[in-house]
Amino acid sequence: MVKLKIKKGDTVEVISGREKGVRGEVLRVLPKDERLVVQGVNVRKKHQRKMQAGGRTMNPGVISFEAPVHVSNVMLVCPKCSEPVRVGLERSEGKSRRVCKNCETVMDA
Ligand SMILES: [Zn+2]
Repeated sequence: MVKLKIKKGDTVEVISGREKGVRGEVLRVLPKDERLVVQGVNVRKKHQRKMQAGGRTMNPGVISFEAPVHVSNVMLVCPKCSEPVRVGLERSEGKSRRVCKNCETVMDA
């Protein structure tokens, strides 16, 4: 299984498709699908009919939500150099830390 180097709360930049260059915070990580939900990226709109769900009534209207994007379509933005960068892993004391391959900043405390 591929270990994702991107975590919830990270900032990523879209590197392909029509939203190329858009940055957003990672809201959710779906490791099994190798996908991420990123704030403001891949926003879809869904028309909602009036419905009953779990005892509460949901009002009809248009709801927008972020659809997951594949990890290969985004790159992690380094907090230090503020660029979309490749990330390396550095192992020490049994922990692996992510390191920016551009400025060599360790991203995880
Ligand atoms: Zn960096």
